[in-house]
Amino acid sequence: MRLSILLLLAFLGLNCHAQSLLHHKLSVTLYPDQHRLKAEDEISLPAGSPRTLKFFLHRDLQPASPDAIIEALGTRPQDWLRLYRVTLPPGSNTFTLKYAGVIFHPPQQDAREARSFENSPGIIAEEGAVLSGVSGWYASFESVLTGGMLTFTLDVTLPKNWLSISQGTRNVINKEMEGLSTNTIWQEQQPQDEIYLMAAPFVEYLDKVDSIETLVYLRHENMELAQRYLDATSRYLSMYQNLIGDYPYAKFALVENFWETGYGMPSFTLLGSQVIRLPFIVDTSYPHEILHNWWGNGIYVDYQSGNWAEGLTAYLADHLLQEQKNNGAEYRRSMLQKYTDFVSAGRDFPLNQFVSRHSAQSEAVGYGKAMMVFHMLRKQMGEEKFIRALQNLYQKFRFKRAGYTDIEKTFSQEAGEDLSSFFVQWVQQTGAPTLRLVSAVEERTSKDHDLILTIEQTQTGSPYVLDLPVAITLADKEDAYTTSLKMNEKHAEWRVTLTGKPLRVDVDPEFDIFRRLDSSEIPPALSQVFGAEKMLIVLPAKANKNLREQYLAAAKRWQLQVGRSTDIVWDNEIIKLPASGAVWIFGWENRWRGVFQSVHESGNDTLSDQSVQINEVEFLRSKHALVLTTRIGKTPAAWLAVPDARMMQTLARKLPHYSKYSYAAFEGEKLTNIVKGIWPLLTSSLSMPVRQLDGSIQEVNRGMLEVRTSLVR
Ligand SMILES: [Zn+2]
Repeated sequence: MRLSILLLLAFLGLNCHAQSLLHHKLSVTLYPDQHRLKAEDEISLPAGSPRTLKFFLHRDLQPASPDAIIEALGTRPQDWLRLYRVTLPPGSNTFTLKYAGVIFHPPQQDAREARSFENSPGIIAEEGAVLSGVSGWYASFESVLTGGMLTFTLDVTLPKNWLSISQGTRNVINKEMEGLSTNTIWQEQQPQDEIYLMAAPFVEYLDKVDSIETLVYLRHENMELAQRYLDATSRYLSMYQNLIGDYPYAKFALVENFWETGYGMPSFTLLGSQVIRLPFIVDTSYPHEILHNWWGNGIYVDYQSGNWAEGLTAYLADHLLQEQKNNGAEYRRSMLQKYTDFVSAGRDFPLNQFVSRHSAQSEAVGYGKAMMVFHMLRKQMGEEKFIRALQNLYQKFRFKRAGYTDIEKTFSQEAGEDLSSFFVQWVQQTGAPTLRLVSAVEERTSKDHDLILTIEQTQTGSPYVLDLPVAITLADKEDAYTTSLKMNEKHAEWRVTLTGKPLRVDVDPEFDIFRRLDSSEIPPALSQVFGAEKMLIVLPAKANKNLREQYLAAAKRWQLQVGRSTDIVWDNEIIKLPASGAVWIFGWENRWRGVFQSVHESGNDTLSDQSVQINEVEFLRSKHALVLTTRIGKTPAAWLAVPDARMMQTLARKLPHYSKYSYAAFEGEKLTNIVKGIWPLLTSSLSMPVRQLDGSIQEVNRGMLEVRTSLVR
């Protein structure tokens, strides 16, 4: 979901609810070769509106009105928008706005965005038009009566062979005039946050699921690709209608964009050409965008109290699909790892302050933490009540705004208990608990086995109230005994009575609690190096001139990108590696490669002078671009090297996308990835053998955990 115009309006301090909505009756003609639009908008204000109102419009559209007075007030809060004041004649609730002009903001890399996506606030070009509330292509009102919501009809006239997409249902009427031809009318009667207009010379594919039109708009004919998406649309619409409730719109469309985006709008999604051709998208990002029609575009987010829709969508799309593949625990572990790696205490913020993703850190909170909060709610309430609460939430707030308080009320009602302290702890406060398994000791009573367990919360600040899942492996039993321990102090001890002899304890083995992971639970990965507060890049002074230049250029690129404290040094300028922060070692020629090598020997790889061996496959110094990670003490460290200086630029661009991996190898001019992976974890500080009555311990594997069923099968 993208940032809405409401955020802009929020700066003006409006917050209101009203019965009747503002209505736009828009007629728009696009002239793509001139980047221009011409529009006429008949605006009906809700009854009781003041005669004088303010609105935003793009600064290059000159509005005029035959029946009201329009005055320009200035530019803000975005420099492409201008604020206007309109004064209506007494007794009138409608007026007409006529305007024309250029909207042309070519997509640019968002400096804050950790991904390679580009952004444009709005564009009309020969490749296509992408216009939304933030573009200012129609008048957005700062009215205290409208609550920011609106309804509309939109009559679009386009060049021949062009098609348009907006929210709602459509009627196509063809007409010929001045070489312009296609004419489409879009109509949406349900309250909307903003009005979108996408247009391009699209090829359209159409199908139906129940009474919902399913559509695919591609930039070139590709029946097979379209069919793949039509099938997926049908599959996911059915799945979510069963889980949550009726799909709220008349259609769902996949729209191919002409730059790389991943946006979910009401009743359609706008994905980049490359994105839609990636084979996994159809079962990852795509269902996520479909689900946003319930969360975010079905129920709207009350941004002033935090964006909950990303977390819930991630939980019921990304997490659910992993859960269906029996991959839930690993997925949750990776979410917790992102939080642990990227969100240091000083950069944390509470969920009720999350608006939208603009960095790995804001994603780890706004998506990752929020997702875990819904997971913990589900564990606490049980499957059935959790699903009923989701359905009730949707029923109650469809086409309305909802915030975390509304979620808390709805879920409390269904749970039959007051969940307010749960929401205070996880939504209003920053931070996460860190856990330490202190001891696990067997004690003998008359006939049963007793286990005395001691666990600590080691974070600074007050204790969290937790339901801690614990798995206890028993002698001669294949299945572990699992239980949940209530913890509300920083240091707690429990006596657990068991029918068998306890051999081993695992705390939160399936990552059900939102917490900061211990480094022993995190395999070394590039994310720890890129996410560190401080980074030192060590370059090889003995490498040839070309390599030295390219290594230095790449280091400088990351220095700019990371935006945090990053130092660059030559390997002969330091006498030891730092004990804090993270270290990058560049090049085969680097004199610190040896240190890296010796620390790294115990792993599944070996690093010699001419090659690296990973899981028994050899990669050559002369052929492969290589990356390995490790920890030197507690310091995350990574080493990289390229066989050819010309490859370095590409490698520097690619590597941030491999953040979750411990190692990777690339080859060829385009640096095709041939191997990537995560080092296996050998020990965890939350696992421990039980000290037996005679003081001995026995190292055993964890007993089997019950296979969980997914929320939807
Ligand atoms: Zn999303």
